Amino acid sequence: MKWESAARTDRGRRRPQNEDAFLVRPDLGVFAVADGMGGHAAGDVASRLAVDTIAERIEGAHSRRYGRRRAADILGAAVREANHTIHVAADVEPDKAGMGTTVTALAIVSRDHVAALAHVGDSRAYRFDRDGLRQLTKDHTWVQQQVDEGMLTPYQARRHPFGNVLTRALGTDAGVDVDSLDTELRAGDLLLLCSDGLTTMLSDGDIAAILRDANGLGAAAEALVEEANARGGIDNITVVLVRIEG
Ligand code: CA
Repeated sequence: MKWESAARTDRGRRRPQNEDAFLVRPDLGVFAVADGMGGHAAGDVASRLAVDTIAERIEGAHSRRYGRRRAADILGAAVREANHTIHVAADVEPDKAGMGTTVTALAIVSRDHVAALAHVGDSRAYRFDRDGLRQLTKDHTWVQQQVDEGMLTPYQARRHPFGNVLTRALGTDAGVDVDSLDTELRAGDLLLLCSDGLTTMLSDGDIAAILRDANGLGAAAEALVEEANARGGIDNITVVLVRIEG
């Protein structure tokens, strides 16, 4: 299988700094988005530690050589190791206490024609194909929990003041539950990883329209960021796009 990718990250219009980070390693078929949190730029440190730890861990374990089970195991272990690294750093450096990050990571498993995903927090993975746009990950947020329990509608959840309260993050605890999933890949499929700075500004319909109309991956990534900023850009915005070429 072959693939191409593009990524953009932007501070947005309101935040003083960008605490998102992304990982784009087309050579390994590995991609990730992380959205850090914590005062004194600690969020920036947490998200960077997450993507760097995943990159290092995957570096020695090329996904082309493995099937989907093994890829999911390696990715999950890499995310748990990132959790440990961030948690320890937060423990020893007082100004980093309580720092954490989301992470959504993807590894293409060429042999099985699937993408393995590992996910913690409210950054998202979507797949866009001939059937349209579908969210693959489920947010680890208080509002998502309320939706699952029938206490809030998805519409109310989108506008809820507690919309950014996470129920899971990397680094905040000694251990973490990592969601693992995979998705079949066909030529022409597009995968999107993004931070919530995109999805709080744009609906799934907005995202699908931009992906459909954009002329190329780089232009699509640019257009997503531009549109999120045009609507207020209240948070850092990060998008990673991967297109399967066959
Ligand atoms: Ca964010």
